[in-house]
Amino acid sequence: MSDSNRLRIAVQKSGRLSDDSIALLKAIGIKLQIRDRLLIAHSTNQPIDLLLVRDDDIPGLVMDGVVDLGFIGENELEEKMLERQAAGKQHEYIELRRLDYGGCRLSIAVPNEFNYQGVQSLAGKKVATTYPFLLERFFKEQNVEAKAVMLTGSVEVAPRAGVADAICDLVSTGATLEANGLHEEDVIFRSKAVFIQRAGELTEAKQSLINKLLPRIDGVIQAKE
Ligand code: ATP
Ligand code: ZN
Repeated sequence: MSDSNRLRIAVQKSGRLSDDSIALLKAIGIKLQIRDRLLIAHSTNQPIDLLLVRDDDIPGLVMDGVVDLGFIGENELEEKMLERQAAGKQHEYIELRRLDYGGCRLSIAVPNEFNYQGVQSLAGKKVATTYPFLLERFFKEQNVEAKAVMLTGSVEVAPRAGVADAICDLVSTGATLEANGLHEEDVIFRSKAVFIQRAGELTEAKQSLINKLLPRIDGVIQAKE
């Protein structure tokens, strides 16, 4: 549990969600001094600390109550929620806002020579992915007997390497797929960044600070629309 009086917010250290998340915090008036390579950054005008970590760690940090808030992609959040639920671990959180960045889709893609006639074509096949829980849930919903093969990287080379017949990966433009002789067939999950809070009660001071920040976030989101 977070015992400090300062609000702790987990943000991706370096990646697709980092700049937009930090820009949003700055836009709502939080002054930050972020120094390279440090895990923690202190706000100079609010009782707020940022924890700069890998995005994969953010859902667990929030669900374990190590941080109060986090910015994370729904894909990562939902996957970790399912994983922790299956393992009987804490998996609760509160979604405060859905944000207007980090948009991507988790899709099934197959080699160009694969004769794909819908998800049933995956029956008896192996599908490489970094999101086995989301993929297995999709298979179950679709009544397809296929196998999710977990790979944490280089998912798009799995078919060529003979490790899997198809893949399920994040797509935004499709350029990476094309470069690997694959094409997108079915979208299984649409994701954006979200702002989440840990379950359970926070101190009154922390909660009232959050309640002050939320309308400012709404203001920034509306100003962009
Ligand atoms: P880390 O080192 O923090 O683990 P990462 O390589 O896992 O970084 P990024 O590639 O920075 O993660 O992606 C972070 C998140 O950004 C994704 O989980 C997803 O929610 C979002 N995202 C938006 N567009 C894309 C995209 N085209 N490809 C992958 N992720 C995307
Ligand atoms: Zn990651």
